[in-house]
Amino acid sequence: AQRRPVAEWDGTGATADGHRVKVLGNVGSAADARAAAVAGAEGIGLFRTEFCYLAAHTEPTVAEQYDAYLPVLEPFAGKPVVVRTLDAGADKPLAFLAPGAEPNPALGVRGLRVAFDRPDVLDRQLEAIAKAASVSGAEVSVMAPMVATAAEAAWFAERARAAGLPRAGVMIEIPAAALAAREIMAVADFVSVGTNDLAQYTFAADRQLGAVAVLNDPWQPALLRLLELVGAAAGASGKPAGVCGEAAADPWLARVLAGFGMTSLSMNAPAVRAVGASLATATFADCQEAAKKALAGQPRH
Ligand code: PEP
Ligand code: MG
Repeated sequence: AQRRPVAEWDGTGATADGHRVKVLGNVGSAADARAAAVAGAEGIGLFRTEFCYLAAHTEPTVAEQYDAYLPVLEPFAGKPVVVRTLDAGADKPLAFLAPGAEPNPALGVRGLRVAFDRPDVLDRQLEAIAKAASVSGAEVSVMAPMVATAAEAAWFAERARAAGLPRAGVMIEIPAAALAAREIMAVADFVSVGTNDLAQYTFAADRQLGAVAVLNDPWQPALLRLLELVGAAAGASGKPAGVCGEAAADPWLARVLAGFGMTSLSMNAPAVRAVGASLATATFADCQEAAKKALAGQPRH
């Protein structure tokens, strides 16, 4: 196999020997989407739609949502864009979906759990996404946050398809979901691992608390074992699996994630080139070796 040039990244996410791993952008606004496009992202792996409404007091209408989503999709016409449905609660509270007092908001009604009580809110969002998708020409998928079981994933996928959205995936960010990855892959079209929350819930360490930050280090072998499980489940199913947490923005860890069989990595715009270049200068066998070492807790690089 031919080695690809070291210094430059040609904009197609792949290892030196041509094993494809898409390099995608994380965005929360139209400005972020433009920055991701300029940085060379091949698509969007995570559009955090709740970022559009952190200051909203009332639920945005379908028309307002359409207006917010369309300019995020437009720079990526013809390219893949994953739109995450509202991840309200815990560190991202939305006034119009407040669950009431909870002793442990991170363990409470957040993410997709909100939609079980308010499926009408989810359906209106799916309607707006479907409209924006068809006008933009982007290859839009939808993705649910904070999914714990395959039954929840199936419930979401059914609602997405009913709204005319043909590709429905879920985030793996609860340890139970990583352990059930095979069952989830059977009902969802793809998965994407949110390592920020997956680390928080695996180590019982608040992601916002500096005092426990060392536990939220994504190089922790116990977290990597869950990522390995997800990669293997994806490989067995033949369906895509990505990583869209902060872990994907670390160029060295990106190789480890590729070695687990992840088919895409999604990150903030400033990290896109470095991750693309890191993948391009390692063979897939190098990535698998890096994965083995990281699982064993050996020095990083
Ligand atoms: C994550 O949890 O890793 C993730 C990508 O989602 P968020 O950071 O928005 O919770
Ligand atoms: Mg999350």
